[in-house]
Amino acid sequence: MSNRRKFVKQSILSSAAMLVGKNLFAHSAPRTEFTPVTVKDNPIVISTWDFGKAANEAAWQVLGKGGRALDAVEKGVMVPEADPNNQSVGYGGRPDRDGHVTLDACIMDENSKCGSVAFLEHIMHPISVARMVMEKTPHVMLVGEGALQFALENGFKKQNLLTPKSEAEWKEWLKTSKYKPVNNIENMLPGGEKNHDTIGMIAMDGAGNMSGACTTSGMAYKLRGRVGDSPIIGAGLYVDNEVGAATSTGVGEEVIRIVGSHLVVELMRQSHTPEDACRLAVERIVNRNPAAAKDIQVGFLALNKKGEYGAYALQKGFSYAVKTGKNSTVEQAGYHFK
Ligand code: ASP
Repeated sequence: MSNRRKFVKQSILSSAAMLVGKNLFAHSAPRTEFTPVTVKDNPIVISTWDFGKAANEAAWQVLGKGGRALDAVEKGVMVPEADPNNQSVGYGGRPDRDGHVTLDACIMDENSKCGSVAFLEHIMHPISVARMVMEKTPHVMLVGEGALQFALENGFKKQNLLTPKSEAEWKEWLKTSKYKPVNNIENMLPGGEKNHDTIGMIAMDGAGNMSGACTTSGMAYKLRGRVGDSPIIGAGLYVDNEVGAATSTGVGEEVIRIVGSHLVVELMRQSHTPEDACRLAVERIVNRNPAAAKDIQVGFLALNKKGEYGAYALQKGFSYAVKTGKNSTVEQAGYHFK
């Protein structure tokens, strides 16, 4: 059935639901061919941190023309990936402790199809490689040299991603470093900059379909070979087109331990609002190890099938960007440690 016909059928079902005053947002309904939606404001795109705003604008070039959420999230996150001034994603990302920029990314669509790359070097747009893994292979995840080989065989160009600025900062770090991986301290870099930040993006298109993308250079000065939550489906990103989607940023090890994004989506399935679901996931991290949680940042961002969104973090300072047909804003997430 064409998307157009699906959309018309969805609209009819949604209107019918509104007429009879029934909420068809069925949390445990079996997967059906048509998932009726009651969308407040779709299309909509949300993404982590202030730099998500520019990424959302790029995503909107797809969504605003009636394009597919999957295309929108790929286009959107390509903006920070290509930005040398963004030192936590793609080109210009801070290297591992040995001076190598290594990238993690994943993407997931409305049919639960997903693709991922981890520990990938020399490729500016890991998100597009992840999409190709999803669309052109029977696998979900490729890592390291295999991921690079796959990318090169599929036309991606090998590039030096270490910019002079990131190289100079790394060399400065080496002077005092004892080669301990620093993965739990915000504001540890000269000038008080953060040592990590990922872009996670979720979109719902005009047909009510959701997709997500997540891409990062991971923790600055991490051990060589370290992979965080961002390319792990269920940890850094999860999309369930019947319920909603979630993504995460912050110390990936903590997110992996609770399979964070999947947890947020499951909490939304149990009728929690997006913000509440994010808060409960944050509290899961705190309850597991309160002492450790005090010194780190983790943030979750979520969108449900009704077009409602929300976020929550361990610490103050987690911002996220929201774009709809009416507005483009940056909002501050609630946080646990007051
Ligand atoms: N979650 C990313 C990682 O652990 C880093 C970040 O978002 O700050 O690699």
